[in-house]
Amino acid sequence: MKLKFKAFAAFMLAAVVSLALFLSPSEAAKARQLRYYALDVGQGDCSLFVLPDGRNVVFDAGPRSNAKKTVNYLKSCGVRKIDLLVASHPHEDHIGGMKELLSKIPVKQIWDSGYNHGSKVQRDFYQMIKDKKIPFGRPKRGYAAKLGDVTLEVLAPAKPLKGTSSDANNNGLIVLVTYGDVSFLMMGDAQKEEQKTISPLPRASVLKAAHHGARNGTDAELLRDVSPDIIILSYKRGNSYGHPHKETVSAIRRAKILRFDTADGPVKLRTDGKSVTFERKRVVK
Ligand SMILES: [Zn+2]
Repeated sequence: MKLKFKAFAAFMLAAVVSLALFLSPSEAAKARQLRYYALDVGQGDCSLFVLPDGRNVVFDAGPRSNAKKTVNYLKSCGVRKIDLLVASHPHEDHIGGMKELLSKIPVKQIWDSGYNHGSKVQRDFYQMIKDKKIPFGRPKRGYAAKLGDVTLEVLAPAKPLKGTSSDANNNGLIVLVTYGDVSFLMMGDAQKEEQKTISPLPRASVLKAAHHGARNGTDAELLRDVSPDIIILSYKRGNSYGHPHKETVSAIRRAKILRFDTADGPVKLRTDGKSVTFERKRVVK
């Protein structure tokens, strides 16, 4: 039995080595790329990182109304399992799709903000994590995880904030994802109150705009600190909140940042850790 296993392991090793030898230079370069997708989930949020080593990290799962489409889109990106699923905060537009996602795609680990909203959608989410026995953590500022060459750094929450304009938003996870010289700042729906707990906010190549481009999430001060090359706004056109707010839109325009909206369809970026390329027909002016 042991010998058989050894022979199999030797065969697999040979297969991997020969695969590596026969990769063309462009395929080898592709293999070192990180792919990022901001999905079009309607009014809500869902992002996918496909890491250079093939691991998948998903931030949020969009609203329940879009859940089936969200799961199908993730599958169309080649996602057969999720290595890390991050629930930025417990609002429905971020975790409403979790039930469908957890029932269709195996998840190895979950990070949650730890903010107890008490809603049915959050209770259902927690119940499902329990039923499926998925390892679950509530990382705080200072925690970092290394997945191959990619680092995920938790910038917030540090300690619970109370009495803010939205405690659910302001106790959410803010995570910096870094690959080489390129970083993505994942803000969730964090508003000014939580952002102020991080000083200074780090510089990032790509900013996943806070709170769907709401004025209390993404303003000129945030744009100055983070100084992104690319900003992504996730929202549904004609939403009842008026996202993105006109103050945010004009601050982005003044700062001359390349802007992509999920309302125009999914946003797809690639990086080799040095520069970022994008697939997009329409750039918002
Ligand atoms: Zn939201």
